[in-house]
Amino acid sequence: YAKSEGGNAMRFFEAAMQATITARATLESELRAALAGHQFLLHYQSQVTSEGRIVGAEVLLRWQHPTRGLVPPFGFIDLAEETGLIVPLGFWVLEDACKQLEHWAHHPGRRDLELAVNVSARQFREEDFVQRVREVLDRTGADPTRLKLELTESLVQNNVAATAEKMKSLAAMGIRFSMDDFGTGYSSLSYMTQLPLNQIKVDKSFVQKIGDDPKVELIIQTIIGMARNLELEVVAEGVETRQQLAFLEKHRCTLYQGYLFSKPVPLAEFEAQLDPEIIA
Ligand code: C2E
Ligand code: MG
Ligand code: MG
Ligand code: MG
Repeated sequence: YAKSEGGNAMRFFEAAMQATITARATLESELRAALAGHQFLLHYQSQVTSEGRIVGAEVLLRWQHPTRGLVPPFGFIDLAEETGLIVPLGFWVLEDACKQLEHWAHHPGRRDLELAVNVSARQFREEDFVQRVREVLDRTGADPTRLKLELTESLVQNNVAATAEKMKSLAAMGIRFSMDDFGTGYSSLSYMTQLPLNQIKVDKSFVQKIGDDPKVELIIQTIIGMARNLELEVVAEGVETRQQLAFLEKHRCTLYQGYLFSKPVPLAEFEAQLDPEIIA
């Protein structure tokens, strides 16, 4: 009768829950081992001007898993956030990117390249975030003016004054800031006036509706216009088609990033894009 059915459903539910908990625990211990065992690496996705010049790249985290192959962020970023592992992982990303910047600083054709590094809310909110970034810069010798930190709107929530203060300390070192996935999160335009931002990134969910949705096109135009008035750069992310590019160029976006130019690729492939004449 009903009670025993309920009991069966409950046992099934508990078994499913247990399986989920076990899988999460496995993934968590794998993540810890991966961090200790150098299984993470960065891919580089170029950012280009409307003339097609590569000004730099966004670095995107990848996990070279011993059996599952290359794992993209959606397979582990959420758990890394929940467990706090995103903090050491995020600093590893920052340090690796800074080492690369320092390396390029000695190469005439590459010393102007910029790298954009994603920073999670959890990492940014660490008490000693500013100090640790300073230490990474000191340790690697990277030029802070070549570094851009990508923040998301979720980070600002309820915390504009504290966020602004940290950003200003970092900006004083020469670091620049981009608001990632602009318009998809908690959007309060008031923070735009309070944070020392240099750039906003139009989210790919908007870019991908160009040609299909006139209202989204108007939103993109509005974002670009607002950015121009506030003297911010605008990067369009997720540019996949010539049509999307033509629309964005018509409205004078600053920089473009997307599969139309390149997917995120390993360092050597990114560097090959910088020297196209070498590829015979
Ligand atoms: P994001 O920062 O918005 O990065 C852009 C994402 O869009 C990347 O996905 C990139 O591969 C993808 N993308 C770029 N161009 C195109 C395109 O033309 N079409 C399509 N369909 N996708 C495109 P990815 O590498 O899977 O990263 C996903 C998210 O994971 C990132 O979104 C970012 O939020 C997070 N993430 C990646 N690396 C890091 C990291 O080092 N630290 C932190 N905290 N988060 C990271
Ligand atoms: Mg990003
Ligand atoms: Mg983005
Ligand atoms: Mg996005």
